[in-house]
Amino acid sequence: MKLSFEFFPPRTQEGKKNLAQVRKELSVINPEYFSTTFGAGGSTQDATLETVLDIQKNDDIPAAPHLSCIGSEKEKIIQLLNQYKSAGINRIITLRGDIPSGVRDIGDFHYANELVEFIKSEYNDHFHIEVAAYPEMHPQSKNIQQDIKHFVNKVNAGADGAITQYFYNADAYFKFVDDVQKHGVEIPITPGIMPITNYTQLLRFSNMCGAEVPRWIETRLRSFDDDMESLRAFGLDVVNSLCDQLKSQGVDSFHFYSMNKANPSLQLAKNLK
Ligand code: FAD
Repeated sequence: MKLSFEFFPPRTQEGKKNLAQVRKELSVINPEYFSTTFGAGGSTQDATLETVLDIQKNDDIPAAPHLSCIGSEKEKIIQLLNQYKSAGINRIITLRGDIPSGVRDIGDFHYANELVEFIKSEYNDHFHIEVAAYPEMHPQSKNIQQDIKHFVNKVNAGADGAITQYFYNADAYFKFVDDVQKHGVEIPITPGIMPITNYTQLLRFSNMCGAEVPRWIETRLRSFDDDMESLRAFGLDVVNSLCDQLKSQGVDSFHFYSMNKANPSLQLAKNLK
């Protein structure tokens, strides 16, 4: 069973201390790697680099940076990848990202497939390249057929694996995998798993990224009001069942959106192991 955990780069001293503790707690399950997200602004990008290098140096778990290309120049991407390469990093989560509102210059890349192609051409097979997949469709896509076609382009550009946006409906994942395999895709498609611990936050994220929270789950979550303990117990139950369902149908690799918290993902991961 391959397990990986995703963090966002902390920016305060307290956040850094918290993340160091979270990494320690998650390390006991022997994950394949720890990934760190990459923001569209300058200071968040520095924080990503700092977190990634800290993980790579101080943890026994390999670090995998996310890298988004929109708004970036080739030269800047090379500079960053060279730093990662010299630190011994060999896995990158490769994304387009979203251009911040008000920014006009989209830079040297339009879509993630161009970044995949660029990394392959500059570094051959040094980096294991993961790309994003959307079982419920990327929110900016016109239709699922177009989205699948664009996903297949990323794979053909050289992606070695994919991680999905989170979902709570296993059928969406299996249908997506089935569809892309019909287009010749053979790379592993790892489900992205989002623990449920907070109603408002989950709804906000889901609205932004186009992930569906099924009505029956939303109704239940809303009914808990301020009873966070019951909400978390229900959330754990729902996501455990989802993971069990995926595992029982042959999925052997899971990526957890940890939100820089150890316990929710750790409980799910331990259940899987
Ligand atoms: P792409 O694959 O480029 O696709 C973007 C959209 O363009 C899709 O609708 C696609 O269908 C369409 N498209 C692709 N090619 C073409 C073409 N040739 N012509 C027309 N349309 C096309 N964001 C961050 O900013 N930082 C992160 O660290 C981060 N990590 C993520 C990790 C995972 C596992 C996932 C699933 C998402 C992550 N995101 C992150 C979010 C991601 O950046 C956004 O979803 C973004 O809008 C799309 O990125 P992409 O790499 O999927 O883009």
